[in-house]
Amino acid sequence: MTEPLPPKRPTWCEIDLSVVKDNLVLLRDLVGGGVAIFVCLKGDASGCGDVAVGRAVQDAAVDGVAGLAFGNLDRAVAARDAGIGLPILLYPTCLPEAAPFLERHGFMPTLSTLEEVAAWSRHATSLQVYLKLDGGGFRAGALPHHAAAVAQAIAGSATLKLAGVYGHPMTSYGPVDAGYTDAQVTSCLAAFDAIAKAGIEAPIRMLSSSAIILSNPEADLNAVDPGRLVLGHGFPAVAGRERPWRHALVGLRSRLVMVKSLADPGDVMPAPFLPLRPGMRLGLIPYGWSDGFPRRMPAAATALVRGRRVRLLGPTHSELIRVDLTDAPDAQLGDEVVLLGRSGGEEITLPDLSRQWGTDVSALYPMVGKSIRREYVQSGNR
Ligand SMILES: *Cc1c(COP(=O)(O)O)cnc(C)c1O
Repeated sequence: MTEPLPPKRPTWCEIDLSVVKDNLVLLRDLVGGGVAIFVCLKGDASGCGDVAVGRAVQDAAVDGVAGLAFGNLDRAVAARDAGIGLPILLYPTCLPEAAPFLERHGFMPTLSTLEEVAAWSRHATSLQVYLKLDGGGFRAGALPHHAAAVAQAIAGSATLKLAGVYGHPMTSYGPVDAGYTDAQVTSCLAAFDAIAKAGIEAPIRMLSSSAIILSNPEADLNAVDPGRLVLGHGFPAVAGRERPWRHALVGLRSRLVMVKSLADPGDVMPAPFLPLRPGMRLGLIPYGWSDGFPRRMPAAATALVRGRRVRLLGPTHSELIRVDLTDAPDAQLGDEVVLLGRSGGEEITLPDLSRQWGTDVSALYPMVGKSIRREYVQSGNR
């Protein structure tokens, strides 16, 4: 006799991994065959699970996918441990002493300064590295007028090999800062020229995260490294770059673990936070602000129960949320409560939920995906 599986907390989000391949195919078609694709899995792949998404990227085997990029060394190690063999670019995340470890794992670190080149050279035996450019975002990267010198130092190192040069112009997804993005792209393009003029070959030349791919086609060069686009986050696109990206995050669901009537509250004191309604019915779901739900109950927070829209009632709790079931009189213990997704003829979409929570879709992903169980689904083409 086998033991039955232990029951799980009935709160979960749904990640559709089939979109990874579909979005990569759209991207492949968009940037063309000569442009390599690195998929950025930063932030636990925006809360979707970096190992699961990395494996989906590997299994999709879309032409031109050249590797993955991580911002956290520990997560890159987890990907290798899970059997992901693709080349891995590390954004600035570790110190030069890590060089032998990186060589063994096939990880390529990011260098910005002459000081780093000297230190990494000392610790490495034969290490592929990337030079990063700072076009005015003022984070990691060599400023354009330093870039050729740093590239030259890498080229002159006996232990380092220049795998590529990349930049990451900052964007703010609106027309207000488009000029600022364009200026960084222009600065980085000048730095690529300076490196080439110094006679240094950068096999990979890369500038475009998701927003830049859609807004600045001149920055495609010979490689791109989008993250969120692969998970379906759209950004403003110039003519010809619109595509039907599909979102990976498709559901946020829980179940009623308690339902009771407040139609006759007896002689308990009325609560200042909970205006009772005639015939009121109250439900609870095992989900709360410890799980990514906003700490303050949004005024517009709703969910779907049996195809009907119901309100969530504050205050929020660490791991519980109240549901006003007065308008769903047939709801009962165990019923599904949909915060994102479909229920009967009703739907709460990602933009709806981000409006409810007073945030944007990109911020919503990790809020939902990082703290609760993920169920991976494969929808196939819809
Ligand atoms: C985060 C990051 C990306 C990917 O950004 P998205 O907006 O998710 O596409 C690309 N390149 C670098 C250097 C990054 O840090």
